[in-house]
Amino acid sequence: MKTFYAILFSIGVTSVVSSIFGCAGYLYGIGFWVPFLVVTGLQLVIGALWNTYIENKLAAKMQIERESFEAAKKLADSIQNVDLACAYCAARNTIQLNMAEENSFKCINCNNANKVQVQFSTIRTTEPVVRDDLLSKIFKLQTEEEKEEKEKVKK
Ligand SMILES: [Zn+2]
Repeated sequence: MKTFYAILFSIGVTSVVSSIFGCAGYLYGIGFWVPFLVVTGLQLVIGALWNTYIENKLAAKMQIERESFEAAKKLADSIQNVDLACAYCAARNTIQLNMAEENSFKCINCNNANKVQVQFSTIRTTEPVVRDDLLSKIFKLQTEEEKEEKEKVKK
Protein backbone atom coordinates (compact mmCIF):
# COMPACT_ATOMS: atom_id res chain seq x y z
CA MET A 1 0.00 0.00 0.00
CA LYS A 2 2.92 2.29 0.79
CA THR A 3 4.39 1.78 -2.68
CA PHE A 4 0.96 2.38 -4.25
CA TYR A 5 0.74 5.81 -2.59
CA ALA A 6 4.36 6.54 -3.49
CA ILE A 7 3.58 5.79 -7.17
CA LEU A 8 0.40 7.91 -7.00
CA PHE A 9 2.38 10.78 -5.43
CA SER A 10 5.09 10.45 -8.10
CA ILE A 11 2.50 10.54 -10.92
CA GLY A 12 0.86 13.57 -9.26
CA VAL A 13 4.14 15.51 -9.01
CA THR A 14 5.05 14.61 -12.61
CA SER A 15 1.62 15.78 -13.86
CA VAL A 16 1.79 19.06 -11.92
CA VAL A 17 5.31 19.84 -13.20
CA SER A 18 4.32 18.94 -16.79
CA SER A 19 1.10 21.01 -16.48
CA ILE A 20 3.08 24.06 -15.32
CA PHE A 21 5.28 23.78 -18.43
CA GLY A 22 2.16 23.15 -20.53
CA CYS A 23 0.49 26.31 -19.19
CA ALA A 24 3.68 28.29 -19.76
CA GLY A 25 3.78 26.96 -23.33
CA TYR A 26 0.13 27.92 -23.80
CA LEU A 27 0.83 31.45 -22.49
CA TYR A 28 3.89 31.85 -24.79
CA GLY A 29 1.87 30.62 -27.76
CA ILE A 30 3.54 27.19 -28.29
CA GLY A 31 0.45 25.35 -27.08
CA PHE A 32 -0.15 23.19 -24.00
CA TRP A 33 0.54 19.61 -25.18
CA VAL A 34 4.02 19.87 -26.77
CA PRO A 35 5.76 21.27 -23.63
CA PHE A 36 3.58 19.00 -21.44
CA LEU A 37 4.67 15.84 -23.29
CA VAL A 38 8.34 16.88 -23.64
CA VAL A 39 8.60 17.67 -19.92
CA THR A 40 6.78 14.41 -19.03
CA GLY A 41 9.29 12.46 -21.20
CA LEU A 42 12.22 14.29 -19.60
CA GLN A 43 10.90 13.52 -16.11
CA LEU A 44 10.52 9.83 -16.98
CA VAL A 45 14.09 9.67 -18.34
CA ILE A 46 15.49 11.51 -15.30
CA GLY A 47 13.43 9.27 -12.99
CA ALA A 48 14.73 6.10 -14.69
CA LEU A 49 18.34 7.34 -14.48
CA TRP A 50 17.85 8.25 -10.83
CA ASN A 51 16.41 4.81 -10.06
CA THR A 52 19.35 3.12 -11.79
CA TYR A 53 21.75 5.28 -9.80
CA ILE A 54 20.02 4.38 -6.52
CA GLU A 55 19.93 0.68 -7.42
CA ASN A 56 23.65 0.69 -8.26
CA LYS A 57 24.42 2.48 -5.03
CA LEU A 58 22.34 -0.06 -3.12
CA ALA A 59 24.01 -2.98 -4.91
CA ALA A 60 27.46 -1.54 -4.10
CA LYS A 61 26.44 -1.14 -0.45
CA MET A 62 25.16 -4.72 -0.34
CA GLN A 63 28.38 -5.96 -1.94
CA ILE A 64 30.44 -4.18 0.75
CA GLU A 65 28.20 -5.63 3.48
CA ARG A 66 28.52 -9.13 2.03
CA GLU A 67 32.31 -8.81 1.79
CA SER A 68 32.64 -7.56 5.38
CA PHE A 69 30.34 -10.36 6.55
CA GLU A 70 32.49 -12.93 4.76
CA ALA A 71 35.65 -11.40 6.22
CA ALA A 72 34.13 -11.55 9.72
CA LYS A 73 33.07 -15.16 9.15
CA LYS A 74 36.56 -16.08 7.94
CA LEU A 75 38.05 -14.48 11.05
CA ALA A 76 35.56 -16.28 13.30
CA ASP A 77 36.40 -19.59 11.59
CA SER A 78 40.12 -19.04 12.15
CA ILE A 79 39.64 -18.62 15.92
CA GLN A 80 39.85 -21.81 18.00
CA ASN A 81 39.51 -22.28 21.73
CA VAL A 82 42.51 -24.20 23.03
CA ASP A 83 43.57 -25.33 26.46
CA LEU A 84 47.26 -24.52 27.00
CA ALA A 85 49.64 -24.98 29.91
CA CYS A 86 51.43 -21.88 31.18
CA ALA A 87 55.19 -21.96 30.42
CA TYR A 88 55.96 -20.74 33.97
CA CYS A 89 53.58 -22.55 36.32
CA ALA A 90 51.91 -25.12 34.02
CA ALA A 91 48.41 -23.91 34.96
CA ARG A 92 45.81 -24.59 32.28
CA ASN A 93 44.65 -21.50 30.38
CA THR A 94 41.81 -21.57 27.87
CA ILE A 95 42.68 -19.09 25.16
CA GLN A 96 41.28 -18.12 21.79
CA LEU A 97 43.81 -19.08 19.18
CA ASN A 98 43.66 -16.99 16.04
CA MET A 99 45.46 -18.62 13.12
CA ALA A 100 45.57 -15.28 11.31
CA GLU A 101 47.89 -13.59 13.82
CA GLU A 102 50.46 -14.09 16.59
CA ASN A 103 48.92 -15.26 19.85
CA SER A 104 49.92 -14.47 23.42
CA PHE A 105 48.18 -14.58 26.78
CA LYS A 106 48.67 -13.69 30.43
CA CYS A 107 48.46 -16.70 32.75
CA ILE A 108 45.37 -16.68 34.97
CA ASN A 109 47.44 -18.22 37.79
CA CYS A 110 50.84 -16.46 37.82
CA ASN A 111 50.07 -13.48 35.55
CA ASN A 112 53.16 -14.12 33.40
CA ALA A 113 53.03 -13.37 29.68
CA ASN A 114 53.07 -16.44 27.43
CA LYS A 115 53.57 -16.52 23.71
CA VAL A 116 51.83 -19.30 21.79
CA GLN A 117 53.94 -21.31 19.39
CA VAL A 118 51.86 -23.18 16.85
CA GLN A 119 53.42 -26.30 15.38
CA PHE A 120 52.05 -28.63 12.78
CA SER A 121 53.14 -32.21 12.24
CA THR A 122 51.95 -35.09 10.13
CA ILE A 123 51.40 -38.76 10.92
CA ARG A 124 50.58 -41.71 8.69
CA THR A 125 46.99 -42.80 8.60
CA THR A 126 46.61 -46.39 9.81
CA GLU A 127 44.24 -49.13 8.69
CA PRO A 128 42.45 -50.97 11.50
CA VAL A 129 43.84 -54.52 11.87
CA VAL A 130 40.39 -56.09 11.91
CA ARG A 131 38.53 -54.74 8.94
CA ASP A 132 34.78 -54.48 8.63
CA ASP A 133 34.51 -56.82 5.63
CA LEU A 134 36.57 -59.43 7.47
CA LEU A 135 34.32 -59.08 10.53
CA SER A 136 31.20 -59.49 8.42
CA LYS A 137 32.66 -62.62 6.77
CA ILE A 138 33.36 -64.14 10.17
CA PHE A 139 29.87 -63.23 11.36
CA LYS A 140 28.32 -64.76 8.23
CA LEU A 141 30.27 -68.00 8.72
CA GLN A 142 29.15 -68.19 12.33
CA THR A 143 25.49 -67.71 11.50
CA GLU A 144 25.71 -70.36 8.76
CA GLU A 145 27.26 -72.78 11.22
CA GLU A 146 24.49 -72.03 13.69
CA LYS A 147 21.89 -72.72 11.02
CA GLU A 148 23.50 -76.03 10.15
CA GLU A 149 23.60 -76.99 13.81
CA LYS A 150 19.93 -76.07 14.22
CA GLU A 151 19.02 -78.19 11.19
CA LYS A 152 21.00 -81.05 12.63
CA VAL A 153 19.08 -80.76 15.89
CA LYS A 154 15.76 -80.82 14.00
CA LYS A 155 16.81 -84.01 12.23
ZN1 LIG B 1 51.32 -19.32 34.96
